[in-house]
Amino acid sequence: MVLAELGGRITRAIQQMSSAIVIDEKALNECLNEITRALLQSDVSFRLVKELQTNIKKIVNLDDLAAGHNKRRIIEQAIFSELCKMLDPGKPAFTPKKAKTSVVMFVGLQGAGKTTTCTKYAYYHQKKGYKPALVCADTFRAGAFDQLKQNATKAKIPFYGSYTESDPVKIAVEGVARFKKENCDLIIVDTSGRHKQEDSLFEEMRQLAEATKPDVVIFVMDSSIGQAAFDQAQAFKQSVAVGAVIITKMDGHAKGGGALSAVAATKSPVILIGTGEHMDEFEVFDVKPFVSRLLGKGDWSGFVDKLQEVVPKDQQSEYLEQLSKGNISLRIMYEQYQSMLNFGPLKQLYSSLPGMGAGMMPEGREKESEAKIKRYMTIMDSMTDEELDSPNPKVFDETRMMRIARGSGRIVREVKEMLEEYKKLAKSLSNMKGLKIPRNGDLMSS
Ligand code: GDP
Repeated sequence: MVLAELGGRITRAIQQMSSAIVIDEKALNECLNEITRALLQSDVSFRLVKELQTNIKKIVNLDDLAAGHNKRRIIEQAIFSELCKMLDPGKPAFTPKKAKTSVVMFVGLQGAGKTTTCTKYAYYHQKKGYKPALVCADTFRAGAFDQLKQNATKAKIPFYGSYTESDPVKIAVEGVARFKKENCDLIIVDTSGRHKQEDSLFEEMRQLAEATKPDVVIFVMDSSIGQAAFDQAQAFKQSVAVGAVIITKMDGHAKGGGALSAVAATKSPVILIGTGEHMDEFEVFDVKPFVSRLLGKGDWSGFVDKLQEVVPKDQQSEYLEQLSKGNISLRIMYEQYQSMLNFGPLKQLYSSLPGMGAGMMPEGREKESEAKIKRYMTIMDSMTDEELDSPNPKVFDETRMMRIARGSGRIVREVKEMLEEYKKLAKSLSNMKGLKIPRNGDLMSS
């Protein structure tokens, strides 16, 4: 995701400022100018960037900061909180209630990813114990119903649509009524898009909203539209009461800054981001962890969410405890490799852990990475229990490494390579030592 580049640039700008002998107006301005350039190049709208700069300057009044104040920390915090503010519309995201039926309507341009995302949204809630259902009210695009049907069948989610009826309002009303009768608690209505914003699209959206009375309208936006994001999001908001945003295709080359603009334009929170074509390729969006990760601080809540999804319940607390102590033995790494091979989603889990995913399972090179993991595991199979279980394995000398290499039929260079990988992981986790792993959001230091 190109947003990582944005995060890197912001972090470097802060670091550069901190290395100045005195942090004065000039150093602060240089830092803020670099952040401004980075945000603009990531497609964040100019108005928002300007606002961010002005707000940070208001918070950080260098003249008032007496000597002894940690200026870097204050500036860093101001940047963090302003970035959060940009992404936080100040109202909570809509959460469907299990005891009652919620109707959710998806809107967006054709090709934005609505149909794909409807299934992701349904699949996500199904895993959380909801009883979702999908209604295809897209009669504009040929093949829309077939696509929804195929996705829904794969995810074992009930669906409704028609090959012959051409009135989307009629289909939507019938579908919602049917699933209400069947006690579904989350009815998702997929609507049609158009190639571009036009009156007929907005009129159809208004009619559908009036007929189905959705609890929330979710605007789906393709992240690759760049600077056009603000205007597009605003146009949708002006036609229907958009209450949430989903940004898709964040796995591609999109700069991603459009997400920030869409929040500002709709005054609605981003709730999910799409990271691939498959139904489990999305991330639940949460502002603080997102900005933390953007600034290279790691995203614990995303990590914990995913951990709960993919690691068996009885192993979760032990695993978290080891991590929070900064302990990771080679055996834990071995077990995690094993899970990584057994459960596909662990790839996503690891990608939210700083220092792990990117190197271990780079996008598009899964086969290669898998072979590497298997090689490392074969090497670890030749280690003694003592070597595997020590939380801080002693230095492995040449004799030891030769023994392990011989035992595993590999060469010493590969043993060294595996230990390097281990050291990298242990180091990234030791940076987090002492952190309380949050259950619901904030990154807290103990
Ligand atoms: P709709 O016209 O808005 O319903 O869009 P579709 O759901 O048909 O999606 C259009 C294309 O985008 C399809 O080829 C999807 O597989 C693809 N797509 C949707 N979401 C994502 C995503 O998050 N990442 C990637 N890479 N492709 C996506």
